Amino acid sequence: MNCFVHPVMSDLFQAPAVLNNSPWTDDELTSAIQAYLNMLRAELNGQAYSKAEVNRQLRASQLPTRTKGSIEFRMQNISAALYELKMPWIAGYLPAKNIGSTVKEKMVALLRDCGIDFLESYIPTSDHVTLATKVTSLRMQTLGTRPIGNFQPTMVSSITTSYVRDPAVKAWVLQAAKGQCEGCDSPAPFVGNDGLPYLEVHHVMPLASHGSDTTTNAVALCPNCHRRCHSSIDRDNFKLHLYQKIPRLIIEAPTAD
Ligand SMILES: [Zn+2]
Ligand SMILES: [Zn+2]
Repeated sequence: MNCFVHPVMSDLFQAPAVLNNSPWTDDELTSAIQAYLNMLRAELNGQAYSKAEVNRQLRASQLPTRTKGSIEFRMQNISAALYELKMPWIAGYLPAKNIGSTVKEKMVALLRDCGIDFLESYIPTSDHVTLATKVTSLRMQTLGTRPIGNFQPTMVSSITTSYVRDPAVKAWVLQAAKGQCEGCDSPAPFVGNDGLPYLEVHHVMPLASHGSDTTTNAVALCPNCHRRCHSSIDRDNFKLHLYQKIPRLIIEAPTAD
């Protein structure tokens, strides 16, 4: 006779878990962390999972002496450690508030042992280059859940380097363009808040590479062409195109510091 017992129903007939008040071993914590990270990965990728089922499986395998409630609490500890690291955590496990710093440190160390590199891209940053790298890395993945974001982003101040620019050079280049992009010949996309056609001035040899602030190194571009100079995969070819198209430009050699 087939004595199939539904796995969830079988739970009801099991002997109650032996109450274990002893501190969790590293192996036990690691089991909980691994289960947590699997759920987090699923959540971030938009895959379905069941917290209750994972809890049940842990009690049926690696954590036979722990109760459902104490496993839930550990999961909240893990959320607290991830929250501390500014990494994403499972929304269903609110970070436990009453977690001691020793426990948190241990959790962080064990989390690192379990491999949390895949969460690095989610850590907020104020550095725009790092931000761009993280965004690219995340765009390559399937983002299943809509991120919560930050309602009060932290403000940081940083030292920026600027160049003293000649207003007449900029005005002359814009005037010479006659409201038309020198890259693609399209008309300025809109009228700027100064009432004049909106174009941006770009230094073909960047000032940061010791390019000159002169009319022979500056072009008036629509925002699309300007972005293309800085951010496109074909920016080197586009630069050559500008040199070929605009007779006034003089090629400058980049110089190092
Ligand atoms: Zn253009
Ligand atoms: Zn530019």
